[in-house]
Amino acid sequence: MTKPAQNIFQTSERVARMRASATLGAMQKALALKAEGVDVVDLGAGEPDFDTPAHVRLAAQEAMSRGETKYTATGGTRALQRSIIDYYGREFGAHYEPAEVMATAGGKQAIFNAVVTLANPGDEILVAKPYWVTFPEIAKFAGATPVYIETERNGFQLTAEDVRAAVTPRTKHIIINSPSNPSGRVIPPAEFRKIMEVCAERGVYVVSDECYLRFVYPPGEVFSAASLAPELRARLCIAGSFSKTYAMTGWRIGYALAPAGWIKAMLLVQGHSTSNPNSVAQAAAAAAMNASQDCVREMLGEYARRRAWLIGALAEIPGFKCFAPEGAFYAFPDVRGCLSGRVKTSAVFAEKLLTDEHVVVTDGAGFGADGYLRISYATSLERLKEGITRIRRVAEACAR
Ligand code: GLU
Repeated sequence: MTKPAQNIFQTSERVARMRASATLGAMQKALALKAEGVDVVDLGAGEPDFDTPAHVRLAAQEAMSRGETKYTATGGTRALQRSIIDYYGREFGAHYEPAEVMATAGGKQAIFNAVVTLANPGDEILVAKPYWVTFPEIAKFAGATPVYIETERNGFQLTAEDVRAAVTPRTKHIIINSPSNPSGRVIPPAEFRKIMEVCAERGVYVVSDECYLRFVYPPGEVFSAASLAPELRARLCIAGSFSKTYAMTGWRIGYALAPAGWIKAMLLVQGHSTSNPNSVAQAAAAAAMNASQDCVREMLGEYARRRAWLIGALAEIPGFKCFAPEGAFYAFPDVRGCLSGRVKTSAVFAEKLLTDEHVVVTDGAGFGADGYLRISYATSLERLKEGITRIRRVAEACAR
């Protein structure tokens, strides 16, 4: 018998500290089951079920026909940069120069660039719980230390007071995500401003992940940190994405808006890692921002309909407690009422949903909130209803 090969791939210390993405993990499970022909209800992925709008797809085809298939500038084409600048001007009254914007391969790369360019080993990076799975891992990759802000006692609402209490002389960044993935919480604009005031006062660099910018349900208001006064934006990087807003997840296209010095450093990193984002996707993204935004309003309307149904349905599941999310497209129920000797954690509960009922959800522990589940409603109402019927069966069995 041959001896098992020794693992010669000793990862670097930075990589050894990283955990795999729980959201991508849930997505892989769903894909694997679907490939086997299993009737899966996939409430795991944070991925719009809508097609990319027709006019956006057409813009990509036209770009290909024009031969826009070559390298572009590292930070994206002038046309895309212009679209982003004009959009923020129109929507939020913000003034950005071309040197203050860059295109990236998805919002994730914008956050990655923003953090790795400034953070040093020993720096602290503030992340409010529950957090998007990737935030702490980017901090670790940068050699910095993620420092968590607890918000559960306040219904997962991050406040300026929480931030003030968490800042130390070692704090380099805070990563803010409103609307939040996974909680759907939205920081009210006045509170957001106060958080930015604390950060400006203490010299903290803010990364505002605005991937779910447009997905706020009435009476909430769409708010971008771009609309704040310039003195509050001196240390601000906005990380944006086309993935959710225009149902363009697979195109991998996002952007960063930040002061020129920060963007210059981010271009250095991007120039030696991925270079420019996909040229055809850039043309599609520019078209998405320049055209009518009716498609976004339509998607929001559909999410609102699903949300209303889902929150009512979750309230009726024994052992579940769920607040109404103000934004994004996730419900984040507390399922501790279903846990007991046999099913001790939300991870076991999520696993049971998968094995017994073929329902994929994402365990809250990956987001720093053990005892919760993230349920994505970026899926049709019909599938959502089927999923909830199955989840209810498992919850009832646990309650017995
Ligand atoms: N952002 C989405 C989610 O949270 C996509 C997966 C990922 O990139 O994490 O499900």
